[in-house]
Amino acid sequence: MNLAAIQTAAGLNTPIRHQLFIDGRFVDAASGQTLPTLNPHDNSVIAEVAMAGREDVERAVAAAERAFPKWSRMAAAERGRILLKLADLIETHTEELARLESLDTGHPIKDSRTLDVPRTAGCYRYFGGMADKFQGETIPVEAGFLNYTLREPVGVVGQVVPWNFPLMFTSWKMGPALAAGNTIVMKPAEITPLTSLKIAELMAEAGLPDGVVNMIPGLGSVAGQAIAEHPRIAKVAFTGSTATGRRIVEASAGNLKKVQLELGGKGPNIVFDDANLVAAINGSAWAIFHNQGQACIAGSRLMLHERIADEFLEKFTALAQSIRLGNPLDAATEMGPLTSAQHRDRVLAYTEVAREQGGRILAGGKAPAAADLARGCYVEPTIVQAGSWRDRVAQEEVFGPFVTVLTFKDEAEALAIANGTDYGLGSGLWTSNLQRAHRFARDLHAGMVWINSYKRVNPGSPFGGVGQSGYGREMGFDAMREYTQVKSVWVNVDAQIPPWYPR
Ligand code: NAD
Repeated sequence: MNLAAIQTAAGLNTPIRHQLFIDGRFVDAASGQTLPTLNPHDNSVIAEVAMAGREDVERAVAAAERAFPKWSRMAAAERGRILLKLADLIETHTEELARLESLDTGHPIKDSRTLDVPRTAGCYRYFGGMADKFQGETIPVEAGFLNYTLREPVGVVGQVVPWNFPLMFTSWKMGPALAAGNTIVMKPAEITPLTSLKIAELMAEAGLPDGVVNMIPGLGSVAGQAIAEHPRIAKVAFTGSTATGRRIVEASAGNLKKVQLELGGKGPNIVFDDANLVAAINGSAWAIFHNQGQACIAGSRLMLHERIADEFLEKFTALAQSIRLGNPLDAATEMGPLTSAQHRDRVLAYTEVAREQGGRILAGGKAPAAADLARGCYVEPTIVQAGSWRDRVAQEEVFGPFVTVLTFKDEAEALAIANGTDYGLGSGLWTSNLQRAHRFARDLHAGMVWINSYKRVNPGSPFGGVGQSGYGREMGFDAMREYTQVKSVWVNVDAQIPPWYPR
């Protein structure tokens, strides 16, 4: 099938963008090289997408540098207006963006329509509104002086994002960076570039000046590495695996660029024996199975108080087995395929890892038998009871619809297990005991805690981790701090300074 036929079959009304977006124009890679992006439902090729190399990173950085003076000095409200217009355009294109995201990533269309697209628009809108509200301070210093701070954009920022929420991550990263006046070179994951390129097109339509955003899909080891190393990129913001995060930090050392890292997680989701079990069972399924478990904040360690474990697991397993797997473009689908075949194989391999260490497979652990899913990257919802919290499946990020069940006998043991990994990103607890809830929120080694809920995000609420889950925060005022630097300005208003060198 050619691209036009694929567009029509997927119900897309506008062209699929498959070139790099540099300096306000869609262009081929300097090398002419392309990389196919696949539909994970059947592994068919959707499009051949231009693959950025070092030369393209150079072009993109040069364009971003040229655009910086005008963009950074534009009235903040004017920058905000463009982001607000973008948010409106995203909403107008909801169906188009939702279909494209589902086609490229495997997100169920129901989720793309009701979560990915509205959250993306909401995040751009939030930072559009923020642009002229983020301000410096005046500081009460010694008599005769006025001291104030300016919040200045950092400069050209590099942003490298993964494939699990490509559309939404454009807004988490670019929303605050643009509101603060930075210009951008963004590299989406090589396997899911399509909605990022569409956003670049909508940004141009919203009136974003040429060169302010440059979108360059390409390999991490080439284009990503070049961004992390680049001497004229002032900051790199990265979302992805902890191993790549480490490489980025090393590569950034050349010009001591500012680094922000959102890395992996192994979220503890703790259910106490006084919890509302109906809510906890449903919420815990959402915590792990939403987006096929491909979420850094997934509740991938399900920790149950031993008194309720049997009852919980019986109902939780039945619920997991009832989740409807299917073509992401089908509105009835509740769980789609994983985003790549390579990743599916990695996730399935963890079933063997679990067995080898004495784990019990309570559900899933394999690809579904249905013939219509045979060519796709599907994995059944998988529940594994681990022998010990030290087992690999209780320590390593699987990043799939794969939940590891652990039990505990009291609060102290629950806390020790919950804090017993190198990660510290999302975490949740279910209890009706108010004091315990806040005590755990205080004591959990985590960037985010959800009480009687899981996986809530909002553009106003800081998002990020501690430990091996990274540093820095996305969203809210914290994100604006990450994308600005502080300048302190001293003015002698009427201070009488005795001469330093009396003559
Ligand atoms: P990954 O680290 O392999 O890739 C992420 C991005 O980095 C991709 O764009 C890739 O091309 C690029 N990359 C790869 N090598 C690079 C290099 N040497 N230099 C620069 N860039 C390079 O991660 P992944 O497997 O695509 O994504 C899954 C991971 O992302 C999981 O570990 C998950 O937990 C994490 N994640 C974290 C968050 C968060 O906010 N903390 C959110 C989503 C995903």
